[in-house]
Amino acid sequence: SSIDKTYYRGDEAVKVLDGLSLDIPTGSFEALMGPSGSGKSTLLNLIAGLDRPSGGSIEIAGQRIDSLSESQLAKWRADNVGFIFQSYNLLPVLTAVENAELPLLLTTVRARERRRRAETALRIVGLSERMHHYPHQLSGGQEQRVAIARAIVNDPKLLVCDEPTGDLDRHSADEVLKLLETLNKEMHKTIVMVTHDPVAAERAGIVHRLEKGALA
Ligand code: ATP
Ligand code: MG
Repeated sequence: SSIDKTYYRGDEAVKVLDGLSLDIPTGSFEALMGPSGSGKSTLLNLIAGLDRPSGGSIEIAGQRIDSLSESQLAKWRADNVGFIFQSYNLLPVLTAVENAELPLLLTTVRARERRRRAETALRIVGLSERMHHYPHQLSGGQEQRVAIARAIVNDPKLLVCDEPTGDLDRHSADEVLKLLETLNKEMHKTIVMVTHDPVAAERAGIVHRLEKGALA
């Protein structure tokens, strides 16, 4: 099946994705590249269940997500998807471990167990020594690794990353990419990553190219 996505601005309709069909196998690490405005973030948001297609269906690990209600979709996201963005989106008033714990506040997991899981996630990203630092006390690369800890704290199967290395220097970017590769290979996360960085794309098993809302 193929999907469409049309945005409406006033009475103007803009078709951003047009007849796009994509199959991402469980356990793969795939990159989405393409010019600015080609629809990469739009597609990623559909895959993550943050938005719905205008036409067509989206199935993730055997589950149709486009036909879920808003509350079912929110629950599905909370259980299945970890999000990583270019601009880490950490809360400045919380420490690293408190930031990593955030997704669990929406669950029934108890405080002590929340803290234990957040500490485990920070250990996985190599930040055990920085648990109680605030975002402004961390480097960009470390902030992004806290964001990755937050993304994996629920143990989601799918990680969606929108230009995760876009704000990082080469060295920090490579560390983040190595970490994503480890999460894919050793923790079996399925990863879909939008990137402009050819070095980042090289880490992915498959690179899809979007051109004007269709796969090139
Ligand atoms: P970039 O590399 O700059 O991040 P992109 O490939 O991620 O670009 P999208 O953000 O998916 O591109 O946007 C694709 C098109 O859809 C653009 O023309 C954009 O202006 C439009 N668009 C994106 N989000 C919306 C929205 N919420 N409402 C209306 N139009 C939108
Ligand atoms: Mg984008």
